[in-house]
Amino acid sequence: MTFNDEYECPICRHGKLAGITLMDAYACSFCRHIFTANLSEQIVRVEDSSTPMAWRWSGKRWRSVQSTNADLTLVVWICCIAVIVLPPVVVWVPAQIFPPLEGSKGAWFPNAWFVAIVVAHLTIGGWLLSEHYQWRPYVMLRDRMQRMFPES
Ligand SMILES: [Zn+2]
Repeated sequence: MTFNDEYECPICRHGKLAGITLMDAYACSFCRHIFTANLSEQIVRVEDSSTPMAWRWSGKRWRSVQSTNADLTLVVWICCIAVIVLPPVVVWVPAQIFPPLEGSKGAWFPNAWFVAIVVAHLTIGGWLLSEHYQWRPYVMLRDRMQRMFPES
């Protein structure tokens, strides 16, 4: 990795990283993220993202050097499973114990409510995991949203 060559952007995999003159930094031509480079270790680190991410240049492509925190990963998975499993159970169990009268007007409601709860909590769980693993389509969508609705 040198400052004179261009590299594929490790975030969007679409733009090219080009060295910024007079700075030890790269900028992507497409997603506009700024990276600082450690040339001796061949590592670039994104500087303008809320989540710290870094990649090492293998000679052909970028490899993520995210220091994955095993404890945090475990906590994220436990939370995720709890968020996805518990609320639907809390909704489902009473509906089984006190089933609606057959043919009554609201008999459809427990099932519809159960499906809505499952979908909502799957979404929350998916968001948690996407945020933790920095799932690429999610990161790109988040970046696009931030550009469309800039805070401030
Ligand atoms: Zn990019």
